[in-house]
Amino acid sequence: MQHRIVIVGGGAGGLELACKLGRKLGAAQVTLVDQQLFHIWKPSLHEVAAGTLDIHQEGLSYQMLAHDNRFTFCFGAMTGIDLAAKQLQVAAALDDTGEELVPARVLPFDQLVISVGSTANHFNVPGAAEHTLSLNRPADAEHFRLRMLKLLTAAELRKSAGAEGQVRIVIIGGGATGVELAAELREASVVHSRYGFRRLDPHRDVQITLLEGADRILAPLPEKVSSAAAQLLRERQVTVETGCRVARITPEQVEDATGRVFAADLVVWAAGIKAPDVLGTLGLPTTRSGLLEVGSNLLVKEQTDIYALGDCAACPTADGGWVPPRAQAAHQQASYLVKVLTRRAMDQAVPSQPYVYKDHGSLVSIGTQNSVGNLMGNLFRSTWYVQGLLARTMYVSLHLMHHQAVLGTLRTGVLAVARFLVKRATPLVKLH
Ligand SMILES: Cc1cc2nc3c(=O)[nH]c(=O)nc-3n(C[C@H](O)[C@H](O)[C@H](O)COP(=O)(O)OP(=O)(O)OC[C@H]3O[C@@H](n4cnc5c(N)ncnc54)[C@H](O)[C@@H]3O)c2cc1C
Repeated sequence: MQHRIVIVGGGAGGLELACKLGRKLGAAQVTLVDQQLFHIWKPSLHEVAAGTLDIHQEGLSYQMLAHDNRFTFCFGAMTGIDLAAKQLQVAAALDDTGEELVPARVLPFDQLVISVGSTANHFNVPGAAEHTLSLNRPADAEHFRLRMLKLLTAAELRKSAGAEGQVRIVIIGGGATGVELAAELREASVVHSRYGFRRLDPHRDVQITLLEGADRILAPLPEKVSSAAAQLLRERQVTVETGCRVARITPEQVEDATGRVFAADLVVWAAGIKAPDVLGTLGLPTTRSGLLEVGSNLLVKEQTDIYALGDCAACPTADGGWVPPRAQAAHQQASYLVKVLTRRAMDQAVPSQPYVYKDHGSLVSIGTQNSVGNLMGNLFRSTWYVQGLLARTMYVSLHLMHHQAVLGTLRTGVLAVARFLVKRATPLVKLH
C-alpha cells in the first residue's frame, strides 16, 4: 500500500524534506503544501529588504521544484486537521484582488509533517503590531524595500528643494536578523546614493539605529563575536544602542522604558518570534508560546503519525534545553525525517536513535563582503572565532548548500555562476 506523506510548509526544513523524499518515493506519495507559490530561503530575507537580492530572480517556483524532485505541490494555507479522519484542510488560494485561484481542498495523509516556521512576536508592546514591519515572508521584505525607496525619493526631493532630507530607520532587536539587516541597509544606502539619490549623503542622511534590550548585540553568541559585529556596525555608521527596552511605538517614534525617544520613518521589528496562530487551532499539544510539542523523534506528543520540525516545533535537547529556531536545526531535522519517513513508507522499522541537535556554530553576515561568527569543533567542544572573507565564504556556502539540497549540485553551480555574472552587470541593489 502507498503511504501518503503530506508536508505543510516549504521553508528551510520542509522544502528540503519534500525534495529528498520526492526523489526517493515519487509524486504519488509525497505532497508539499505551501501558502506561497515560490520559495526564498528565509535567512536571505534581509537581502530582499535591502534590495541586494531580487525575489523575482532568486525565487524558486514550487511547481518547478515539484516537477524536478518528483513531489506534488499543493498551493494554499493549512487551516485545520481532522485528526480522526487523518485529513489536512487547505484553504482556497486567492489572488491579489481576492478572486479564487484554487478552491479549498482536503488532503488525506498517512503521515503529516508540520513545518510552518514562525512569525513575529511583538510581546504586547503598544504600537508594535501597527507601526512596525517584520521579515516573516518574502512579501514583507519586498514591502519594506518599496517603503524605503519611497522614503528615499521623498528625502531626495526635499533636498532638491533646499530642505533637510533624511530617512530614519530603526531596527528593534540586535539578534542575527537585526544585525544583518542593519549592515545590508548601510551598503544599499551607499549604492542608492549613486543611482538617482545623489543629493543624499548615505551615512548622514540615511540614519540606521539598532536597538537591543540586552547589554550586547548577538547576546546568545560568544562575546568576541558580539563585540566584532558591534565594531563593524559602528565602522558603517550604524548607531547601536544596547540595554534599550522598547516600551511604545507610534507612527513617528520609538520610545524606550527609560523615556528615550528615537525618531523613525521606518521601524523593523526583529526582537522575537512566536508560533503561527494556526497551530493553536489544530487540537495538537502546544507549549505556552504556541509551539508544537514534539519528542526527540520529532513526533508531536500523543500522536503516532504527525511530526513537526523547524521553528514551529518545541524539541527538547539532551541537556534539558530546546533546539534553537535556526535554519541549521530545520535542515538537520529534515535529514533525520528523510530516514524515518522513507523507512515507514517501505514498512520497515524506523531508526530507534533520537534526533540530536548538533550546533556547528553561527555565522552572521555584515554586508556583502564580511561576516563574523563562531564554529564549533567536535574536539573538546572547542569554538573557533571567524571573521572576514573566510567567514563570508562560509556564510554564502550555507545558502548554496540549501540550494544544492533542493536543486542538485549542477544547477546550484550554474545558478551561482549566473548570479555572480548578473551582479557584475547590474546595480548592486534593485531599484524598481
Ligand atoms: C532575516 C533573517 C536572517 C536569518 N539568519 C539566519 C542565519 O543566519 N542562520 C540560521 O540558522 N537561521 C537564520 N534565520 C532563522 C531561519 O530563517 C529559520 O530558523 C528557518 O527558516 C526555519 O525554517 P522552517 O523550515 O522551520 O521555517 P521557514 O523557513 O520559515 O518556512 C516556513 C514555510 O511555511 C509556509 N507556511 C507558513 N504557514 C503556512 C500555512 N498555514 N500553510 C501552508 N504553508 C505555510 C511558509 O510560506 C514558509 O514557506 C534567519 C531568519 C531571518 C528572518
